[in-house]
Amino acid sequence: MAVTQEVNIKCQHCEKIFNDKVYIEVEVNTDKIIANGVVNGDIYKHQCPYCKENTIFLNPITYRDNKKNFIVQSGTDEELKEAKKKFKEEVKYDGFKLYGARTNTEMIERIHELEFGYQPKFCELYKYYVGWAYEKKRLADPKLNYLNTAFIDIDVKGDLVIVLETIKNSGEADYITYPFDPLMYEKYLGQYFNQMKNIDDFVFDLFDVKKIVNFEE
Ligand SMILES: [Zn+2]
Repeated sequence: MAVTQEVNIKCQHCEKIFNDKVYIEVEVNTDKIIANGVVNGDIYKHQCPYCKENTIFLNPITYRDNKKNFIVQSGTDEELKEAKKKFKEEVKYDGFKLYGARTNTEMIERIHELEFGYQPKFCELYKYYVGWAYEKKRLADPKLNYLNTAFIDIDVKGDLVIVLETIKNSGEADYITYPFDPLMYEKYLGQYFNQMKNIDDFVFDLFDVKKIVNFEE
């Protein structure tokens, strides 16, 4: 069952305060629609009773998969620290692999990776190399856009993809999408498995990968 809480939300349009229900914990197998809302953002939309406009309120949420035994928690560093403690202490979280997400993009990435059965730290590694290959190409061809960030998502068919966000001269973002290739993932997993097997990946991102890869080179 999804767990909810009443909170005060400030309308982003008329700035009045209203009270609404937010989801703070959801289990994907029993609450499929709400869990989907974590990914497509629907659960963060709250309609203001005064002006009827929607306000986005990104509250921390615990996303749980009782079949695949993982939890993804979103929140600030402080909130994640608290959550991790709670997961360790409460029996109902026993046996779950825990992940934290400091941004909504990271939350969505973790959910997709884990639902597809991939380990987030090796996905970060794979992503790093996709970005690195692009950077090499850009150095040879200065007409190419600057690389801003890389993330994992699903495409319209529901397949896992790696997306590079690049920035045009005009400042607009432009996206390049690569299919997530399980063989490439396996390659990086094999190459770095021993080095990374004991790394705590509760929070683990491209900066952590950089340290590992740079250290090696
Ligand atoms: Zn309003």
